[in-house]
Amino acid sequence: MTTPTKAYAATTPTAPLGPLGIERRDPLPTDVEIDIMYCGVCHSDIHTARDEWGGAAYPVVPGHEIVGRVTRVGAKVTRFRVGDLAAVGCMVDSCHACDQCGKGLEQFCAKGATFTYNSPDPHTGRMTYGGYSERIVCDESFTLRVPATLDPARAAPLLCAGITTWSPLRKWGAGPGRKVGIVGLGGLGHMGVKFARAMGAHVVLFTTSPGKVADGKRLGAHEVVVSHDADAMAKQAGSFDMILDTVSADHSLDAYMQLLKVDGSLVLVGVPPKPQQISAFSLIMPRRNLSGSLIGGVAETQEMLDWCGAHGVECDIELIRMDEINAAWDRVLKADVKYRFVIDMASLRS
Ligand code: NAP
Ligand code: ZN
Repeated sequence: MTTPTKAYAATTPTAPLGPLGIERRDPLPTDVEIDIMYCGVCHSDIHTARDEWGGAAYPVVPGHEIVGRVTRVGAKVTRFRVGDLAAVGCMVDSCHACDQCGKGLEQFCAKGATFTYNSPDPHTGRMTYGGYSERIVCDESFTLRVPATLDPARAAPLLCAGITTWSPLRKWGAGPGRKVGIVGLGGLGHMGVKFARAMGAHVVLFTTSPGKVADGKRLGAHEVVVSHDADAMAKQAGSFDMILDTVSADHSLDAYMQLLKVDGSLVLVGVPPKPQQISAFSLIMPRRNLSGSLIGGVAETQEMLDWCGAHGVECDIELIRMDEINAAWDRVLKADVKYRFVIDMASLRS
């Protein structure tokens, strides 16, 4: 049995998003059904729906920063009750049996995690549909708890922008005595700045937007460098332990490699559609690392949410109606979002 559900979808790489009726399965024994209150707007939604990475299967219903209320639970669900606040991030399932799943790295599941949208759905044989919709059904093992101290709308982007910056900052040891760069002040970047500052690092934001300098400092950066300023970039040469690159479009990686110390790491989380070039000299003189990171596992996501609840860390958002999504995407593409759009899903129901 299924439940008819209102959604917003892209039906071609170029068509504006518009309303679409989808079906959600009725909860299986270990499933949680959630009425979606808020869904964040990630740049990955745009890359996917516009088929910039390849592999889009239409219709695409994007959205993987989901917070809502539990409306039904399966008979074997133990951790959620009807009425609870709950969240779903970038994944809805994995094999639960491979080494990576055993280590809490479900995003690297050997059989392939089931991502929240545009991912083969074992339940339907079609593709998964994301959070630009009224409700979602998710196995409880991939459903997160939202601390009561957090505003649900301002918590939603933690489910992707939050964990995607938290995980590498923890892994590469952002903390006291470390100099950490964050490249790009968008959805991911603004959480990267907040987290790196809270972890105790010396934080430098790199932005292409001079108009974001004051916000960068307000959000926690000790220094803000406008990356087109060659002199300001040169002053930072050879000084970073880690730089987290959140940029969604073509840009020079070599320019950031020059800023790393010996054994420093440039960690990519942004996914520009075209391959990026890098000079071998950037890696070998002096010895430096180029790496990447993909979201974070389920337990790590819960840990991040709980930490945000305990420390009052939330996202800076612009709340929009579902029917404002196309204008919001246009603004994301112009790097003009302060600093995450979140859809008020009540606007889809009314
Ligand atoms: P976003 O809000 O659009 O932020 C990207 C920022 O990059 C912009 O605000 C802008 O910051 C900067 N930028 C944009 N175009 C640029 C250009 N041509 N040159 C230099 N800087 C530019 O996007 P987001 O949602 O944070 O996502 C960022 C990227 O991460 C996307 O590619 C997304 O798909 C990817 N992502 C990856 C993961 C993962 O697990 N690895 C998870 C989520 C998202 P300034 O104005 O400050 O320059
Ligand atoms: Zn995302």
